[in-house]
Amino acid sequence: MALVRPAAMWHGHGMPDQASLSRRQVLRAGAGVAGLAFGGLVVGGQSQNAGAFAAATPADWADLGRSIRGTLIMPNDPAYATARLGWNTIYDGIAPQAVLQPAGVGDVQQAIAFCRDTGVRPTPRSGGHSFQGFSTSTGLIIDMSAMKSVTMNSQRSRARIGAGAVLIDVYAKLFQQGKMAIPGGTCPMVGISGLTQGGGVGPFIREYGLTLDRLVGAHIVTADGQHRYVNASEDRDIFWAIRGGGGGNFGVVTAFDFVPVPADMPTISANMTFAWRHAERVLEAFQTWPDALPASAHPNLVLATSDRSANAQPTATVGLWYRGSRARADQAMREFIAEVGVAPTSQTVLKQTFFEAEYDEYCAGFTEGQCTPVTSPGGLLPRLGLSTYSEISSAPWPRAANDVIVEELERWQRDRLLQPEGVSSALQAGKVIIEPLSGAVHDTAPTATAFPYRDGWLVYQFQSRVRPGAPAETVAAGQSWVNRFMSRLTPWRTGAEYSNYGNRELDQWATAYYGVNLPRLRKVKAAVDPGGLFRFEQSVRPDART
Ligand SMILES: Cc1cc2nc3c(=O)[nH]c(=O)nc-3n(C[C@H](O)[C@H](O)[C@H](O)COP(=O)(O)OP(=O)(O)OC[C@H]3O[C@@H](n4cnc5c(N)ncnc54)[C@H](O)[C@@H]3O)c2cc1C
Repeated sequence: MALVRPAAMWHGHGMPDQASLSRRQVLRAGAGVAGLAFGGLVVGGQSQNAGAFAAATPADWADLGRSIRGTLIMPNDPAYATARLGWNTIYDGIAPQAVLQPAGVGDVQQAIAFCRDTGVRPTPRSGGHSFQGFSTSTGLIIDMSAMKSVTMNSQRSRARIGAGAVLIDVYAKLFQQGKMAIPGGTCPMVGISGLTQGGGVGPFIREYGLTLDRLVGAHIVTADGQHRYVNASEDRDIFWAIRGGGGGNFGVVTAFDFVPVPADMPTISANMTFAWRHAERVLEAFQTWPDALPASAHPNLVLATSDRSANAQPTATVGLWYRGSRARADQAMREFIAEVGVAPTSQTVLKQTFFEAEYDEYCAGFTEGQCTPVTSPGGLLPRLGLSTYSEISSAPWPRAANDVIVEELERWQRDRLLQPEGVSSALQAGKVIIEPLSGAVHDTAPTATAFPYRDGWLVYQFQSRVRPGAPAETVAAGQSWVNRFMSRLTPWRTGAEYSNYGNRELDQWATAYYGVNLPRLRKVKAAVDPGGLFRFEQSVRPDART
């Protein structure tokens, strides 16, 4: 593995690209370079956690702010209150020492050099949607949101996506620039960085593979401060590791190069809701349905608690994304209904462009400004407190397992602590979301990328969702509900979890996320980040004992 380039090179933003740059070296180099100006530092800002990182003095922070082109937000800056927040409100109590929003690769190098010099922990953030809150820490958040450009070449064979782009930007720009897309999830605000490095599950995967399967190269700043372009021939081990090894482990990615896929077919998006008393039959029929569908179809099943009104019951809704004819989609739904043996209580079918379908999934009726998180001005997309486990099954589950799922949702529906009066189901719910991990996902060998589960059948998410600011006992009750769920499902679980749908309380998380690829990931970590600069609760460790 070639981790260090022999000669210093210069890239993009006027900063040196050398192995093991210290911050002082970077500052000295930067001082003579046009384009380096004062960042948005509020000088004298005091960290709420300064005691934990005695090495970073106010003068250090001031130096850092002066050395970057982007913005450094300290705790006494009015922007800090929202800039520090990720999506999962359970982790709102974690206060970073500062948030740095780089304007270019050079700023990322400055941030890494600063962290190496001071001992402050660097925490990269893209869309901030980590379920486990891993883009939040008491260190320095390197928030990539300003580096979000999305461009495609004229042949539409390569798309370069800035690490701070969120999915709605990616879909909008690739569609506008040539009716193209990449396989990815449906939530508009999920960041490209966390999604890609963990896997990337969504509507196109049965035809084109995971998001990471379309990645052909990436720009990354590693713990030694070096800016590298990694691909199948340069720094191959790092390129392998960032495809499935999880975000935040191997450096700060600044841009991704993808091979995009066509998105010019009409998209049928359909929903069928079934009466709850048939939930078990719906679950059973869903186990094998994806396999009977064309590769351009992506179904999902959402089982969720509903409002706590009298006689309210959970809901069972089957969704279908299909790029092709309405007639074929109708046929697929008729086949599913025949398998269940009862008709849905309601059914909707829409034929749209791919981008309209994507947008409407979360933002139907919203303006562009509203289709942003509540933390941005005018944004309407809610933040939530979420505790999730996932399970990647390798074969259809039997009736006994499906019964557990139905029983546990009914338990949440009844539980007064989990389902307090007056809280809407949109903000407080138990949910099980199931989608296929088959088709083209299986075309890649388990060790070809760091994502190991190439024989997956379905991926399940078991989610407790609580409203922002919910009392601690509600959060704890939600976590114990998912814990209990997992424990009851033990007889059928494979132990395989999708790292992007993980949980901080998971035992054996490293094996669960990385399976057969864990030993190689540890080796790459030891080579590229021997000092463990990038470290968090579930970061890849260089060896099993650390
Ligand atoms: C509402 C919601 C819907 C979702 N839907 C889907 C879905 O449909 N399909 C799917 O596969 N997943 C989905 N996810 C899960 C999602 O893929 C993961 O949470 C993913 O990690 C989020 O990426 P992010 O960049 O937004 O997260 P962040 O919180 O910013 O980062 C996640 C991890 O990556 C690291 N990281 C961030 N940026 C960088 C960078 N530039 N370089 C290196 N490391 C970095 C962080 O440090 C952190 O460890 C969803 C999550 C939510 C909350």
